[in-house]
Amino acid sequence: MVWKEQAASVNISKISPHEIINLDHGDPTMFEPYWRKMSEKCTLVISGSQFMSYFSDSKNVFLEPELENEIKRLHRVVGNASVDDYHVVVGTGSTQLLQATLYALCSPSDHDSSPVNVVSAVPYYSCYPELTNFLRSGLYKWRGDAQTYNEGGPYIEFVTSPNNPDGTMREATVKKGQGKLVHDLAYYWPQYTPITSCLGYDTMLFTFSKCTGHAGSRIGWALVKDEAVAKKMTQFVGINTIGVSKESQIRAAKILGHVSESCLNPGPENFFKTGQILMAERWEKLRQVVAQSEMFSLPHYPKQHCLFTGKFSTQAHPAFAWMKCNKEDTEDCEKFLRGQKIITRNGRRFGCDPKYVRVSLVGKEEEFKLFLERLLAIQGASDGIN
Ligand code: PMP
Repeated sequence: MVWKEQAASVNISKISPHEIINLDHGDPTMFEPYWRKMSEKCTLVISGSQFMSYFSDSKNVFLEPELENEIKRLHRVVGNASVDDYHVVVGTGSTQLLQATLYALCSPSDHDSSPVNVVSAVPYYSCYPELTNFLRSGLYKWRGDAQTYNEGGPYIEFVTSPNNPDGTMREATVKKGQGKLVHDLAYYWPQYTPITSCLGYDTMLFTFSKCTGHAGSRIGWALVKDEAVAKKMTQFVGINTIGVSKESQIRAAKILGHVSESCLNPGPENFFKTGQILMAERWEKLRQVVAQSEMFSLPHYPKQHCLFTGKFSTQAHPAFAWMKCNKEDTEDCEKFLRGQKIITRNGRRFGCDPKYVRVSLVGKEEEFKLFLERLLAIQGASDGIN
């Protein structure tokens, strides 16, 4: 039976019906085995007397110069974003920088009346509404879907490309009014998507979390064209956390430096090459399993020329699967999968239909395998195979 052959190809070891598989967060632990192999090259010793000051240097009070250099070097190596004439702002994850950007783009002097509307096209990253409205700021407020937004006046649009949750490449949506754009490029790295151009937007956000998988270090950075905006963002980071952990910055500098150097290596030490192979394998296996029945569907991505690899037919392999449940009797896919002990994020959280769920594909190998096994079992059961 085809289903059984398929089961063999995803290497079923055991189906453990009681284990809960949590694929809600995009916790990028799949890259751990790579970093374990690089252990000595990326190990750092920090003495008790180092990094005691709040400050780094007189120019940019919180950013470690070493980190700035490595960020710029990596963007030059990958070719995903311009860095010449940009200011680098460091944050405690890009989550802090998203808030710093909102503050900087609608500071009190810019307007004195109602809060600026913040929008993003559906399906948008589920944290945007939460972080915009959390403190009920008088400066800005979440206004929802950018596609249906049709008001005059100032607004801020988050443009996420590749998009979380659906992996598509995006451009600004709102055409009317005086908008400011924030480009969230957390996933614009070769393991997830072809690098099709070197971007040069006004405000571009990146994160160590998704670039190399080091989410625990909590390092994000912004490339900002306008010096005044960069200064306001740094002011926000100053008021919010009086800077960013120096240990984390130095660790990030070391690891980003390794990644840049690894790009010269054609073998398995090349981080992006290894990452690309791993992501492609996961997507291939997932597509094989989903193709077993009509129950679920996944988006398809065009083959494009990747400037980084030089290959003409590179496909995106996003960090998340944006999965649709086609079962007629299932309105809420997240609830349905939860019943099968698979935790995913509900389409509703992204401003979308609950027939959709976001599934993290960047977790541990064992978890991913269990997920495939369980999907096969669900589909098999509904086909009367099980
Ligand atoms: N933007 C996007 C699109 C993300 O998916 C994430 C992490 N899930 C972030 C920003 C924040 O990343 P971090 O705070 O870990 O840097």
